[in-house]
Parts: sequence; C-alpha cells; structure tokens
Amino acid sequence: MIRMERSHVNPHVVLLPYPLQGHIKPMMSLAELLGSANFQVTFVNTNHNHDLLLRNTDITSFCNRFPNFQFRSIPSGLPANVIRSGLTAKDVFDAMKAMSKPAFRDLLISLGEETEQRQRPTCVIADGILCFLTLDVSEELQIPLLALRTHNASYSWIYFHLPKLIEDGHIPFLDENMDKPVAGIPGFENFLRNRDLPGTCRVKTSDDDYLLQFFIGETFAMTRASALILNTFEIEAPVVSLLGSHFTKIYTIGPLHKLRKSRMKDINSPSVSSSGILQKEDTSCMTWLNSQPPKSVLYVSFGSLVGLTREQMSELWHGLVNSGQRFLLVVRPDLILGEPGAGATPLAQNKGTEERNRFIVSWAPQEEVLAHPAVGGFLTHGGWNSTLEGIVAGVPMICWPQFSDQFVNSRCVSEVWKIGFDMKDTCDGSIIEKLVRDLMENKREEIMGSTDRVATMAHDAVNEGGSSYRNLDGLIEDIRLMAR
Ligand code: UDP
Repeated sequence: MIRMERSHVNPHVVLLPYPLQGHIKPMMSLAELLGSANFQVTFVNTNHNHDLLLRNTDITSFCNRFPNFQFRSIPSGLPANVIRSGLTAKDVFDAMKAMSKPAFRDLLISLGEETEQRQRPTCVIADGILCFLTLDVSEELQIPLLALRTHNASYSWIYFHLPKLIEDGHIPFLDENMDKPVAGIPGFENFLRNRDLPGTCRVKTSDDDYLLQFFIGETFAMTRASALILNTFEIEAPVVSLLGSHFTKIYTIGPLHKLRKSRMKDINSPSVSSSGILQKEDTSCMTWLNSQPPKSVLYVSFGSLVGLTREQMSELWHGLVNSGQRFLLVVRPDLILGEPGAGATPLAQNKGTEERNRFIVSWAPQEEVLAHPAVGGFLTHGGWNSTLEGIVAGVPMICWPQFSDQFVNSRCVSEVWKIGFDMKDTCDGSIIEKLVRDLMENKREEIMGSTDRVATMAHDAVNEGGSSYRNLDGLIEDIRLMAR
C-alpha cells in the first residue's frame, strides 16, 4: 500500500476533558468541530464518564458523521459520584495523579505507534486544570499541548491576581467584608466585590485552602501550554486582551455549543442535537412546553453539580410557586444535599400539571429548552455553559451562584452585561418571588434590550466571518502546520 506523504496527512488531535459534565460538553463540541475538519480525533474520558457518554451517544450515527473519531478511556482512581463521596480535594487530585497520569502517558505512547489508519498524535488539547496530568507527559513525549479552559476569561484573569491578594492579607476575607470592593485586578475595579471572587477564596478549612492553592498553581501552569483556547467571545474582549500578557497565543472560539451548530449544519436534525451529555435527557418537558404561551415559562436548573440544602430548596419552591409564573424545574436525583435520590420522582410530581402550570424533570435537554419559544427566563446557578446557553437563546437570567466561577459569572450577568439579576448569598423565598416577577414581567423591558444585544453579539461571533468562526479556522490551520 502507498503511504500518504506526511505533509498531506490529516492531523491527529487527542482531547482530554476534566472529568465533569460542564467540562466534557464544551470539549466534545471542539472535538466534533475538529472531526468535521477531517482531523483524526481521540477523545479520552475517565472510565466511568466514558461509559456514561457512550450510553448517551448514538455511536452508529456518530461514526458515520466522524469516521476518523475514536473514544478511549483511562482510570481515575475515583468513585463514580466523586462530588458527594466525601473525598477531600487533595484525595481527588492525588488519586488522579497516581492513576490517570501514567495511564494517559501510556495511551499517548500507544497512539504514537503510527498505523496505516492513524497518525501519531499531532497535539493534545487538555482541560486547563489538568496541567498536573498533561504538562510533564506532553513535554517528555514532545507533543504540543494546548489548554482549553472551559470557564470564562474573567475567571482565569482573577486567578492570576490571587497570589498578590493573599500576600496582602485580602484573602481569606471575613464574612462581614463580603461587600468590600476588590482592588488590584485591572479591568475589574469598578464592580468586583469579595463576594464575587472565586468560591475557593472563601477559605474556611484546610481543604478549601488546598483547592485555592491548587487552582492558582494550575492557572500559572497553563502558561506553559503552546496556546490557550477559551469558550468566550466579544463580551470578554478587554479581559482576553489583558490575558494576552500571559500566553503565547489565545484562540477565543465561543460560544462553542453554538459554533458547533453554526459550522455543522447536519446536526440540526433532532436526533443528533445534543452532544457530550452524560445523563439521560427527559424530553417529556418539550411536549409540555409546546402547550405553553410564548415567553411564559421560567426554566430553573442548577447544572450538573450544585447541591441545595433542604432550606434552600424550600425557599426556592415557595418563591417559584408564589410568583404565579409557569416554571420548568430540573431536580436531579442528587440535587438535595444529604438526601440522595430525593429528587428522583418527577413523574409523580407532574400529575395534574395542566392546572398547576409547572413541570419537573430530573435532566432536561437544556439547549433545546432554552431555545423553545415558550421559555422567557432562566433561573440558573450561573455555570459558564449555562450562562452561554442562556445568552445564545436570548433569555434573561436570575443567577443564584453557589461556588467556583459562578460568583463572578453572575456579577458579570447583572453588572457588566446587564442581562439578568444576581441573587448572590441570599436564601429567601420572597426575594426569589420578587426577582422572578421582575424578570418575567415588571422589569422585563429594561433587561431585554441588553439581552438581545448580547445574543446578537454571540450569534455574530459564530456565524461565517465572525471572530469565533475565524479563530477556529486559525486553530485548525495552526494544528495542520504542526502536522507537517
Ligand atoms: N445540563 C443539561 N440538562 C440539565 C442540566 C444541565 O443539559 O438538566 C447541561 C447544560 O446545558 C450545561 C451543563 O449541563 O451545558 C452544565 O454546565 P455548567 O457549566 O452550566 O454548570 P456545571 O454543571 O459545570 O456546574
């Protein structure tokens, strides 16, 4: 058989997401985009997530669309529900270092044995908070590493400044200083308060401190990657340009879920609309939405990880019911802290739904729900994927952030982009009730102007000629050059 000249060969990209839903989904969108550019793609998950992902993927149709795509898995050394397992952050990262790092190295070596069908890896694209697994290995094997940070640019920019804030004694801060402005983070002086800082800054235990130091370490480690890829667009242009001082090259290609739809027209068929989802979607809510008036339903979801206390759940419920608005609520089986399985009875709760103007599911097809004409608002924890999905759908938001980047995201939603309200650090049914009424009725007009404007910016970015569209072309071209 005649072998292809190396210069004509399609690159082979190995993608490694951090093993959580909110990281896997955007990485999967990027993997599909590279697959549709005819790249060879190896998508690597930890064993447990690999099984969940394949269970939710129509493999035959997937392989027909992407013949050069393969799924691989490595062990993590962690239990299935790591978030509720009681393990400390140190336990988690130590286990991954011990199990996943050597397994990933072995996998790269085995992929390096070129076959007739497959080239040795051209580059690795790994989650930016997996540098502790990937940097040494990629440097040793001389495979360029690109970091995809699935949180936004603002969050990374803040992390670069935390060592100084710690040195100055600003972090950890006392509860009574929650509203104190944060000085010393360029670009954020006018709106950032202590309560908007990453959740890790609310140091209460030695494990919190470990996590804070760990993420600072990973943020600085990312600068050793050949490039940074960000799931963002023009709304963060100023901070992306500030981040440029730390990285050789930055590609902003967000919102990735919409870029995927814009570049791969064939996925607009319902059978292939979701991707990178680990849970089984309950589509019964779409039938219910079909019978609701336009813009009348508030969609309520806390993403894949957040847990609420029984008290928070009760305040939420009363706030929603007393607002008198229609709502679609996602209650994951593990949503209520300390009560595993408590939310697993949506069918029983939906009895008599027509009269009660509400519907409950354990996992929604979120992108489709937000795009449905009946949905007029989104009460969210403010995870970055959910925020981007709300932006693209042109749906204004109420954010009730609980940890991590959710605090800064919700501050940006309310104070910078003005596309919603921030409910930070409150737990009061009457506040929820008021904000829901404001969002759906009383203050709707005030907020829709900027919501529409930001949605248009997002659509412009991913359409042909837009910044994210062009930056993806640049990324594809640069990886092709690496393969020569
Ligand atoms: N999601 C979904 N259905 C649900 C809840 C969440 O499809 O019922 C998806 C959502 O569309 C988003 C992801 O799960 O893409 C959650 O990511 P995000 O960054 O918003 O939050 P995280 O789960 O990481 O806290």
